This record gives sequence, structure tokens and C-alpha cells, in this order.
Amino acid sequence: MAITDLTACRMREALRRREFSALEAADASLAAIARLDGRVRAFLSVDADGARRRAAGIDKRLAAGEPAGLLAGVPVAVKDNMCTADGQATTCASRILGGWRAPYDAHVVERLAAEGAVVVGKTNLDEFAMGSSTENSAFGATRNPWDLERVPGGSSGGSAAAVAARMVPLALGSDTGGSIRQPAALCGVVGLKPTYGRVSRYGLVAFASSLDQIGPFGRTVADAALLLQATAGHDPRDSTSVPEAVPDYLAALEEPVRPLRIGLPKEFFGAGLDPEVRRVVRDALAAYERLGAQMVEVSLPHSAEYAIAAYYIVATSEASSNLARYDGVHYGRRSSDHADMIDMYMRSRVQGFGDEVKRRVMLGAYALSAGYYEAYYKKALRVRRLIRRDFQDAFKTVDCIMGPTSPTAAFRQGERTADPLAMYLSDVYTVSCNLAAIAGVSVPCGFTRAGLPVGLQIITDVFTEDRLLRIARMYERETAWADRSPPVCEARP
Ligand code: GLN
Repeated sequence: MAITDLTACRMREALRRREFSALEAADASLAAIARLDGRVRAFLSVDADGARRRAAGIDKRLAAGEPAGLLAGVPVAVKDNMCTADGQATTCASRILGGWRAPYDAHVVERLAAEGAVVVGKTNLDEFAMGSSTENSAFGATRNPWDLERVPGGSSGGSAAAVAARMVPLALGSDTGGSIRQPAALCGVVGLKPTYGRVSRYGLVAFASSLDQIGPFGRTVADAALLLQATAGHDPRDSTSVPEAVPDYLAALEEPVRPLRIGLPKEFFGAGLDPEVRRVVRDALAAYERLGAQMVEVSLPHSAEYAIAAYYIVATSEASSNLARYDGVHYGRRSSDHADMIDMYMRSRVQGFGDEVKRRVMLGAYALSAGYYEAYYKKALRVRRLIRRDFQDAFKTVDCIMGPTSPTAAFRQGERTADPLAMYLSDVYTVSCNLAAIAGVSVPCGFTRAGLPVGLQIITDVFTEDRLLRIARMYERETAWADRSPPVCEARP
């Protein structure tokens, strides 16, 4: 078996047993990137020298029998909206930051280093994480490894595609309204959005601060658990980070949750859901029933009707405020052909931001402006509270909520770029989790007839990632989806 075919958990054991070195693992990952990424384009930058240097350092520790961390020698990719002080740029896939080098590491990047992970590169995304297809990147779109004509989902499409194509076993993404779970579904990997406050966002470039959360991608539930373990925990530098103890996510992973009551919101199976996705998700639910789970119909009335509208008001309002800092003075690119200071601000932003970012800044500024604030922003906050209450009510009677992660499998490149609303509807099942600040995961649950992966979304209450992972694992044990590799990998030299 090739090193790149190993899951992170297996790789970690093999590295400890010195079956191969961390340097060999890094080289295998770099070789896979060299072989595949011309077609997939998951990476914005690859730090081969740095990765090999770090791997050699880990090998020394392992050889000396010193503790080398939870992820000792495992190659990891990081979404390019997280700061790295390793000399690689942090671009957020935006021209306005093009070439900007962060002066410090994000908390999660520090954690990766402390746990011995080898960061090999930074992955592509929709500009400032705004989008559902990774087509909004200023540096070109990422392709879906299962079908290069299709999108990998977004905004963490680079991270999802890199894991799916086995260029790295693990990657970090960020999820504001679905940006980990939706690309995980479309690329056939596991992607988990932790509870708001579980993972520090220190050094994550802010999009919508009341929704943003960092989380793991892996090919298996255990791999996602491993990366969550390495990155979760309190950090005083992010005031929203919660000083709640981090459980051992791997310890009880194989223990099924029994009895298990699964809430099925009727709103998640209604109009707009592709029939094939419905069929595949129903099959997964039947597998849970065979495992003894009890199905309970629940209702999330406010989520179904208003979540997308509330999300796109809250997220754009916060984005318009967060993105005010890109003025051509503090960060990144400055226009060179301006008349005066105001003109310099304007031209820097007009030239630096892409269309979707401009659309969001304008929508957000409008929703926050005098006279509209009450009608839009304040109302959206009230709806948000109702959505949270829908979930709280549901969790009184069920342990988790399940449904499709995305209403369709991967769509074609260009199919939704001209229609922002169609693109926004890709998030119809994922945004409410962020509005309610709770945890959610997408696990592979099968394929459409065209061979495109489908994701099952599982949602649980705040700070119950341990149970969430166990519930996901119960199903994964019954299936072999994680063993399938996408066609792009098959053309092996
Ligand atoms: N697709 C959603 C959006 O465009 C979610 C993005 C995200 O989670 N970062 O806002």
C-alpha cells in the first residue's frame, strides 16, 4: 500500500513503528501533489523545503525516542485563510492580500506544529471564504477529484479536494455557513464543524465573526477526530474560545451510542432535494435503523423558511465590517494610480476585491445602515434566536438530527456562477447549524449513478463532538465508502 493511501491514524502508527520516516511521508505527499495538483488545483502554495525540514526534525525526535506529538510526521494542508509565519503567503484567495505574509501563526497552526504535524501547503478557497464552489478564488478554481469538470464545493474546496485526492490525509478548513461540511459532501470525505468556541480562531482571517469556526477534514471519522483533538481547546487570544475541557475523541469512538434517537426534520427532505441524493441518504438512515436507532420526525420550522435569508444578512453585515480593514494601507495591495487618499482607498478596494466580495460588502453595509438596520439586521438576529430554539426543542427528544448535507451532488463548473441565489441555496441545510452555534459533520454515505459522492449530515448540540463522532462512526463501520479513491488517483505511474 502506498503511503498516501494510509489514513492519518494508520500513518501515525506506522511512523511510530518506524516503518517509514516522516521525511518519506512528506515526500510521498509532495510527490502526490506534484503528480495530481496540476489537474485538481487544490493548493495555492506548497512549501516543499519547509515541509522536508520539519519532517526531518520529527524523524530526529522519533529516533531519539522523544515525544513528538499526536500527529508526529503526518502531512497536513491548511486553508489559506489561516495565518502562517513560515514564509508562505496568506492570501484568502484574494488579490487584495496577494503576496501578504503573516507575521504570526494562527493558533491552530501553532497547535499543528506542537503536535508534530508537517504542514505541506495552503489550500484554495472562495475569496475570503465567500462561496460554495471555490470558483470565487482570484487564483483559479479547484476541481472535484471525482469529476474534474465539477466543483469541489466551497469555500474550503481546496482542503476537501486535497484530502479526497489523497495528496494529504488531513486538512483544516473553516465553516461559516457550511464551508467544511458542503465541500466534504461533494468530495466524499469527512468534514466537521465544531461548536462555536471549540477551536480558537486566533489567526483565522475573519469573515463573519459570530459564525466562523475552524474544523478538520479527513477520509475517516477517526482521522477527523484526531485532527480535532490536536486543534481544539481554550485560547485566551480568541475571546469567543470556551474554556471547556477537551474530551478524548478517540477513546470511545468505537462505542456505539445506544439508545439512539435520530431526529429527521421534514424540512430537510422537501422541495429542492435531488431525488438521487434523497435515495442515498435514505439508505444511510436505513442502516442506522438496522443498528437499532429510532427515527423521530422533528420540525425546524424557522430553519427551513428563514435560515438562508437570516444567514445572508448576518454574514454579509459582519463581513462588511470585517473587510473594512482592507484599505490599501494596513494590508496587502495598494492602487498605484490614485488622485488622493479617499481615491486610493476606493481604487485599492475596487481593484483588490472580486465580485462576490463586493456584493457581500454592499449587502452588508445596506443591512446595517440607518433606517434598514431594524428591518434587516435586527430582524435577522431575532430569527437566529428562533432557529436556535428550534434545535433546543428538538434536542429535548432526540440525540441528533440527520439529513442531507447538500441538496445536490457536485455541480458543473460555471453552472451557478451567474446566479448568486442558486449558489446560496447550496447551503440550505448547513447554515442553520452555524446560526445555532452547534456542531455538525458530513460523512460519506454513497454515490449517485454518475459516481459522485453524497454526504450525510449529522448535527448534535453544543460541545458534544465526542458523541457526534461516535454516531458518525457507527455508520462508517458498516460501510466501505472511505476505501474508494477518486478516478484522478487511479492513473498511477
Ligand atoms: N457558502 C456560504 C457562503 O458563501 C458559506 C461560506 C462559509 O462557510 N465560509 O457564505
